[in-house]
Amino acid sequence: MNSCMKFLFSTLCPFCEKPVTPGDFLCESCRKKLTSYQKLPKCPLCGRTVVTTGICNVCEENSPKFDLAISCQGYHDVFKDGLLAYKFRREFYRAKGFSRLMTETFRKLGVCADCITAVPSDPFTVSKRGYNSSLELAFPMKKLLKLPFYPTLLRKKWFVKRQATLNRKERLENVKGNFCFSKRFSKRIAGKRILLVDDVMTTGATVNECCKLLKKNGAKEVYVVTLLGNNPN
Ligand SMILES: [Zn+2]
Ligand SMILES: [Zn+2]
Repeated sequence: MNSCMKFLFSTLCPFCEKPVTPGDFLCESCRKKLTSYQKLPKCPLCGRTVVTTGICNVCEENSPKFDLAISCQGYHDVFKDGLLAYKFRREFYRAKGFSRLMTETFRKLGVCADCITAVPSDPFTVSKRGYNSSLELAFPMKKLLKLPFYPTLLRKKWFVKRQATLNRKERLENVKGNFCFSKRFSKRIAGKRILLVDDVMTTGATVNECCKLLKKNGAKEVYVVTLLGNNPN
């Protein structure tokens, strides 16, 4: 991308492609919608929007393996369209704005992490798509948060059924044993607080499976930040 194109894209909202507000990396309309979403009551553990305050049904049923999770917005509207364009139409320029938003959202949790990693895609998806969408989102976050980045901490096995094609029960079953931990990182993560990045959290089955592995291998705490999460009730 030449410098003129870079300038052009950096002035467009990563979600809806309208011009950004000066001093912000989002347009006025998306910023307003984000502010309203952030004000909604949320589950204190997983960040899902809830009707009444307190722990949500999903966390009540199965306590999550992560310590805290948060999403920047629901999976709907221009937010969903923007993410899909990034994931499936290779519109990479959107990643920078998404990462800035995820960094901003993570900072609001009021916790500190020691290192950062991302939920991996399986090698088949990466070779077909040409990149791992979550890793590309985590990469600028490492710079913004000044944290060590371990992109290969977790690996996903080959030919795993895509979560998006399954219902909640099938998703929980499907993710079991899908990921591996790279043992050579054991010492580096022992007793550490890890920030795990993913693009979307729906049932939480994938991030839970990753967190389980990280904790089993010595991580002290795991925080999760995703770009999009559940829709407001
Ligand atoms: Zn926008
Ligand atoms: Zn919850």
